Amino acid sequence: MAAIRQKLLGWYDDSARDLPWRETRDPYAIWVSEVMLQQTRVDTVIPYYQRFLETFPNPRALAEADEDAVLSRWSGLGYYRRARLLHAGVREVVAQYGGEVPEDPEARRGLPGVGRYTAGAIGSIAFDKEEPVVDGNVTRVLARLFRIDTPVGKTTTTRRLWEEAARLVPGERPGAFNQALMELGATVCTPKQPHCESCPVAAECEAFIHREVDAFPAQRARRPPKEVELSAVVATRGRGADRKVWLIKSEQPLFGGLWGVPMTEGGARSALREAGLQARLGSEPVGEVEHVLTHRRLRIAVYRASGVRGRETKRRRAFSADDLESVGISTLTRKLLTTALARSGP
Ligand code: SF4
Repeated sequence: MAAIRQKLLGWYDDSARDLPWRETRDPYAIWVSEVMLQQTRVDTVIPYYQRFLETFPNPRALAEADEDAVLSRWSGLGYYRRARLLHAGVREVVAQYGGEVPEDPEARRGLPGVGRYTAGAIGSIAFDKEEPVVDGNVTRVLARLFRIDTPVGKTTTTRRLWEEAARLVPGERPGAFNQALMELGATVCTPKQPHCESCPVAAECEAFIHREVDAFPAQRARRPPKEVELSAVVATRGRGADRKVWLIKSEQPLFGGLWGVPMTEGGARSALREAGLQARLGSEPVGEVEHVLTHRRLRIAVYRASGVRGRETKRRRAFSADDLESVGISTLTRKLLTTALARSGP
């Protein structure tokens, strides 16, 4: 263990990438970065992280913002539930802890949206606590280092991974050590063709020693994503610069809280009806959009509708192009709007 620790820390000091969240020990900024980095690539996150902290530089600024403003800054990053949970967690920090992210691990883990991983990352990096972290990169590194042969995702595997991470973390600079593990997974111990020849811990790596790197981490059999067919309606009022597009605030868990075009599995007419709109609906779709989510592949027929009749409500509004810049809309909604509005409608 000591050799792994020492070699990884030395390697990290020499080779770590310069990333904006590595220049701070502010627990709030680290929290924001960790939430953004879940399921999103580093290159994508950097500009979002910087803009988000410019707009909401401290917990109070974020706690006081309304949800639309937060989602608008998150717009395009995906997995919007993360933004809403971060917002809720930070509001609790302001309400319960005077705006200071708590040092106590139990208090941190009690915050909305802060699981064991996020709590450990904040604790070790910001507060120098010997708290372990296990994310996708750490899972891969540890599964190979210790030849963990039970499939990823099983409870026994998860328990073992956290135990190994907890055995490794005690010692000097626990935050740097955790980041070294993650960095190794991101840059050297990659999912395909890992660079074992330049790995600082190859001599300690059981999978490498046994020439079995490709067998780890062990995977469960995967189910193919479910195919879902949907119809979406881009309903407009007015023309040219005066054109407004009708959006509804989604109640679907995946896009909850974001504005989106009316969409359903039941056909274009149902989508309009469910949204409470009457309009002249085009007889044929103007295009098709494919969108892949973690467990679902959406195939969406895109319709245009014009001459909309319907009143604005809290969950249904007509937006100009400028308005759209200031509200949270998903990447999928952007795709649907582009597909429909780039072509001539009915
Ligand atoms: Fe990963 Fe290869 Fe290093 Fe083992 S030797 S930790 S498999 S990069």
